[in-house]
Amino acid sequence: MFTPTRAAGLETLGLFVPHAGLDYARDRNHDTGPSRENVSGLSPYLRHRLLTEREVVSAVLERHRFGACEKFVQEVFWRTYWKGWLEQNPEVWRRYRRDVAEFGLASDTRSGGYREAIAGHTGIDAMDAWVRELVDTGYLHNHTRMWFASIWIFTLGLPWQLGADFFYRHLLDGDAASNTLSWRWVAGLQTAGKTYLATASNISRYTEGRFSPSGLATSARAIIEEPLPTRSPIALAECTSLGARVGLLLHEEDLDAASLRAEFSWLDSNSRLVAIAGSADPGERSPSGASDAVRRFTVSALDDAAKRALDAFGRPARVLPDALPSTVLKWAESERLDTVVVPNAPVGPVQQRMLTLGAALASEGITVTIVRRRWDTLAWPYAARGFFPFSERIPELLHQHGL
Ligand SMILES: Cc1cc2nc3c(=O)[nH]c(=O)nc-3n(C[C@H](O)[C@H](O)[C@H](O)COP(=O)(O)OP(=O)(O)OC[C@H]3O[C@@H](n4cnc5c(N)ncnc54)[C@H](O)[C@@H]3O)c2cc1C
Repeated sequence: MFTPTRAAGLETLGLFVPHAGLDYARDRNHDTGPSRENVSGLSPYLRHRLLTEREVVSAVLERHRFGACEKFVQEVFWRTYWKGWLEQNPEVWRRYRRDVAEFGLASDTRSGGYREAIAGHTGIDAMDAWVRELVDTGYLHNHTRMWFASIWIFTLGLPWQLGADFFYRHLLDGDAASNTLSWRWVAGLQTAGKTYLATASNISRYTEGRFSPSGLATSARAIIEEPLPTRSPIALAECTSLGARVGLLLHEEDLDAASLRAEFSWLDSNSRLVAIAGSADPGERSPSGASDAVRRFTVSALDDAAKRALDAFGRPARVLPDALPSTVLKWAESERLDTVVVPNAPVGPVQQRMLTLGAALASEGITVTIVRRRWDTLAWPYAARGFFPFSERIPELLHQHGL
């Protein structure tokens, strides 16, 4: 269903743009099954930045007036909002990772309801079909993700963290912020006390009768957690002092070198960008790794990005055999780099990897410079409270991007 190339992403975008206006606003909540066309299917491309949020929103606004495509534009900004929120509340990610690791060691995780659920043997026909769809395609419709998470938590009584981990391992668009925070939203942790309860009538209506599960929970008591620490302000985008021999390291959070270079044009000045490489490790998504489909998608997306990224000598980027700091260091030394520029990785496993890499390169006298796209820098500070006050900023943000 999803070809891991920028060209395929652009084709998907081109086919969807005519439907991104009032059609999308009217039909987007319906899930008619895997051949659905009422939503864009752009998430695996956006998540790896094979396509950027800016170019997707720009293409849609070229075709529709804002009033007609506002719903779609808002959905793209949900992604930006979740990222900005997690960036300011990294403790949520730390706790989630700790909990997943602890559940993995507990014996009841290896038996009982959890095993049956992820094998698609709950006896709830809708859940079992959605597990198969997720495992087979690496994708689920948004409404289905909400029903799935609600049934997982409130009907099956399973820990939300394990459901989020199952999604994260299998979704091609699996994203630390959107996934973790959406699960928390369903559980009543994100908007304190407000849970999402899936009902058979809603499922039947929006799946157009494909499913009407019985025996679902009829109440959903919010989960309670330790209060979170005060939110951390967004760090300033790093300022750059570049050496004479600069390399660019792409990773699975940002695979479009061309738009990075257009935004940070100083990268190319004086032909300083002497080498480009790319590395990825989707297995870092979970202690249980990532599905084969996610691995294949990520590796092929990286290959595609590498072919499109040419250094100052016209050489395509080198795909490194692994994402270990020692491998990156070997590449940087072989190219005699004094600076490695890395696109910013938001809170999540890649950010952790980049921190370790920064320390490893610094110890060999190589500077890591992080560049954060303007899209994130402008919007993230507004993601401090709920989505509503954030969404009121969307017109102003679009204006700042000239859209
Ligand atoms: C429990 C749960 C887990 C989720 N996990 C992820 C995840 O890991 N990665 C992910 O990208 N999205 C996640 N979402 C959000 C949403 O379901 C997907 O982004 C959407 O279904 C992708 O399909 P699409 O591209 O056809 O969306 P469209 O409806 O066509 O939307 C266009 C784009 O907007 C963004 N978007 C749309 N809805 C949301 C949303 N609610 N939150 C954040 N971004 C959104 C996506 O980038 C999407 O590609 C999750 C939602 C829930 C309820």
